[in-house]
Amino acid sequence: MRTGRGVYLLGLLIYLCLAGCVVGPGDGKRPAILVPPVEELEQPFAKVAVLDGRSKMLPEARREYVTLHGKRYEVRRPWQGHRVDLGLSSEGKNLVVLPYEFTYPKAQIYVTAATAEALTRMVSAARNDGVILQVDSGYRSLLYQRSIYLRQLQAGRDFYDIAKGVAPPGYSEHMTGTAVDLVPSDWTFHGSEAEKWLGQNARKYDFVLSYRQNDKNGFLWEPWHWRYAGRAKD
Ligand SMILES: [Zn+2]
Repeated sequence: MRTGRGVYLLGLLIYLCLAGCVVGPGDGKRPAILVPPVEELEQPFAKVAVLDGRSKMLPEARREYVTLHGKRYEVRRPWQGHRVDLGLSSEGKNLVVLPYEFTYPKAQIYVTAATAEALTRMVSAARNDGVILQVDSGYRSLLYQRSIYLRQLQAGRDFYDIAKGVAPPGYSEHMTGTAVDLVPSDWTFHGSEAEKWLGQNARKYDFVLSYRQNDKNGFLWEPWHWRYAGRAKD
């Protein structure tokens, strides 16, 4: 049995490495479109009970889960109800690499073609105003998001503690290929010239701040995370 477990762990390690490397920044490769493990495709199940001849949604139907290492975690606020529709995600869609001069550190960062186009116009306009906008994260696959969780769970962190700051697999806007994190993607972004410029101009380029201060859903404020909300042409 011990050997079996060893083989399983080795397989898992190889899997995690692959999952992490495939879309890791600066790997020099186009992110492979991978089929997520079955449990990651688990959608909120809609159980419908027929009571007194009328259909009624059971409370259970509103529950959402992610499964990691065979353990099922109920997804709670603020993420509950905000699972990224797999039909809207960029898994399998055409992604393009951002020009190197937009990225920091110089890395291969992918977004949808429409996002790249709008971002290019916005970055150029900001530059004309003397403001440098750089991106350190764009498209992230379901598997990559999953690998973040697996690593942190293995380091002994609690799922709900991780979920305070990181979207559970299947809930990240980065999966859509339309969200970018601008440099510096931390609290020092607040009060920066870039933040001020975006506050006045991002709308013109169809970029919106996803997680605002005092969000009514309880999402943490992320002044560095912007999403292209224009109509996708790709
Ligand atoms: Zn982000």
